[in-house]
Amino acid sequence: MNRRIFARNAGLLTLGAATLPLIACKNKEGNSFEAESPAMPQPVFPFELAPLSFAYNALVPIIDEQTMMIHHDKHHAGYVTKLNAALENSEMKSLPLLEILQKVSDSEADTAIRNNAGGHFNHQLFWEVLTPGGKSMPEGKLAEAITSDLTGFDAFKTSFADAASKVFGSGWAWLIVNADKKLEVVASPNQDNPLMSGVVEKTGIPILGIDVWEHAYYLNYQNKRKDYIDGFMGLINWDMVAARYTAAMG
Ligand code: MN
Repeated sequence: MNRRIFARNAGLLTLGAATLPLIACKNKEGNSFEAESPAMPQPVFPFELAPLSFAYNALVPIIDEQTMMIHHDKHHAGYVTKLNAALENSEMKSLPLLEILQKVSDSEADTAIRNNAGGHFNHQLFWEVLTPGGKSMPEGKLAEAITSDLTGFDAFKTSFADAASKVFGSGWAWLIVNADKKLEVVASPNQDNPLMSGVVEKTGIPILGIDVWEHAYYLNYQNKRKDYIDGFMGLINWDMVAARYTAAMG
């Protein structure tokens, strides 16, 4: 492992005091790096839009087909295209997505990469934690942690819906594993997320996120964001969230 890669990996190992779950990967040039696991591929530039794992109409009636098509094929695709364009002449071009997120600052020079790397990561996570006919609640260690860290599933639902409702303008609400390895509900504006330690106050590893930009719900719900949030709660892929929880706990 050369010095540069070592320094890069060392930077990845801490997020505040939190340890990221890492897996060994190789990029296209054959260089080793480590990336978050599981199920969140961490390719390098040029980034690509993955297809949805379910049909555009699979979440009807909670999320309509047209919203899914526009959201995935236009909005998410746009973040990917703009991220690649922003990285073209950046020294961050060679880094996997997770490292880019941890490296971006709130400086004006990083704005395009911050917004579009966030947009790409956030939507990848969003599609991954959605599923038609999701279980009504988590099981196992995640369920236990929701009880011990957040006082229970009902309290979590209230807190998550509240955080999502209160995002002013566009943004996201998250369930994260924080630096103390505890679950916490947080929110961030625009396409920021809790991995961006150079940008946001509350850092951690997101295991569930809800997009509350109007493009996520406006066709079906107009101004009734709360109804969209309530519907989203029934679409959560709790097995995936539990897998992300396990990985985040190391
Ligand atoms: Mn969106």
